[in-house]
Amino acid sequence: MTATVPCNAVEKLNDAQSRTGSLLSIGLEPAFDYLPDCYPQTIEGQAQFLSTIIRATSGFCCAYKFNLAFFEALGVRGASLLHSIREKLPSDVLVIADAKRGDIGSTAKQYARAIYEELNADSTTLNPLMGFDSAEPFLEHSDKLNYFLVATSNPGAADFLLAGDLYLRIAERVRDWNSRGNCGFVVGATRDSQIRAIRAIAPSIPFLVPGLGAQGGDLKVTLREGASEGGPTNLLLHVTRGILPARSEPGDIEEIIRQKTMSWNERVREAITNAGPRMSVEHEAEDLLKGAGALKSGHFQLTSGLHSDRYCQCATLFEQPELADKVAQRLATVMGGTGRIDTVLTPAIGGILWGYELARQLGARSLFAERQPGERFTLRRGFTLAPGERVLLAEDVITTGKSVLELIPLVEAAGAVVVGFAAVADRSRGGFQPGPPVYTLAKLAFDTWEPAQCPLCAKGMPIDKPGSRVMKTSSTA
Ligand code: ZN
Repeated sequence: MTATVPCNAVEKLNDAQSRTGSLLSIGLEPAFDYLPDCYPQTIEGQAQFLSTIIRATSGFCCAYKFNLAFFEALGVRGASLLHSIREKLPSDVLVIADAKRGDIGSTAKQYARAIYEELNADSTTLNPLMGFDSAEPFLEHSDKLNYFLVATSNPGAADFLLAGDLYLRIAERVRDWNSRGNCGFVVGATRDSQIRAIRAIAPSIPFLVPGLGAQGGDLKVTLREGASEGGPTNLLLHVTRGILPARSEPGDIEEIIRQKTMSWNERVREAITNAGPRMSVEHEAEDLLKGAGALKSGHFQLTSGLHSDRYCQCATLFEQPELADKVAQRLATVMGGTGRIDTVLTPAIGGILWGYELARQLGARSLFAERQPGERFTLRRGFTLAPGERVLLAEDVITTGKSVLELIPLVEAAGAVVVGFAAVADRSRGGFQPGPPVYTLAKLAFDTWEPAQCPLCAKGMPIDKPGSRVMKTSSTA
């Protein structure tokens, strides 16, 4: 399959996910069933409430989704409400008009114009059943993201979409329509048993996932199965009622919505951590490392002293700042919602550039520790840690994790807190279990041997020692 460059709307979404650490899309629906009693039960009341939702969630979500039906149902006043609320949305999040359109070309062209030009939405939802010519007028908007219904979360999906696996044929066909990188799939969170098969068909296509809140979809399953290839950034998790207060709930409505949104972000973060190995963005990261020429074959002595026939030379990745930036951005997204990180601390030399890129993404300080041969790591150059400071320990590649573990006493001696570990690649094969969470983009299952057991040594193959510890003097210069 050829790689497709993502469209502007996808980049906007990824940037918003990176910046907010959130995978949430928030629903905007002027429904009188949800309008709290303390608001006037009028369209004006709806306008006030929708504005409150936007204020409460801004900075805590990466997208907003208008449900157009609720606006259309209010007639001309609904249309005016829709456009005035559109004006209030932040410019740096994805704006989705949930319309589920799908009609013959000339009609579809008018729908596309209404949504992408008049409303200036970044994205919409489409019903693909009338085929390519009904989709084409939307696809021609190459900077917009078109989410096609593939497996919806409603019971009626059983009538057509799931019957005879029609949803799989839709996924395959829409994937072929994605030459502009502007297609996505709507996959309901209640479709646990379908989501993996759909992801297998389209490893990097963005999914819009409704049905997590009131409809009871399983967040952990969705994240594990839906994010198998492109990582969680390919998932946009939609919540409407899940962040709203009960109609007569006492208290500050804006604060209640904000707390509920933050709690959703926290649940997503926990689910990412607990979702299991398919969530580690492995394939994409491994491809990136391969593409950068960082994955090498031969006979190597690793920094840990072990021998291997494979080596991950992250320096090759950091030769290319644009790629390094992308990798750090990905990891920051994986860590989304981890909480404040004040400082990224790395062991010299291998970790320095990685820590620096990561700190940039996380808005944190970047420090590195150094050591003389045979000594412990220390902070030099006037670097200090303060009591209570939240520190992320980072290393480019973890084999045994020895270097990065040696940084823990430095952090603890200062009264600071280790909040986790971050590596481009973990090749410990599950051996690195330090306690605090480990965030990594690639789990590399390379064989390693003690020198005495090394089959390559046995063959007399010359050995390469690419590790950074051999550069004994440069870190203390
Ligand atoms: Zn060897």
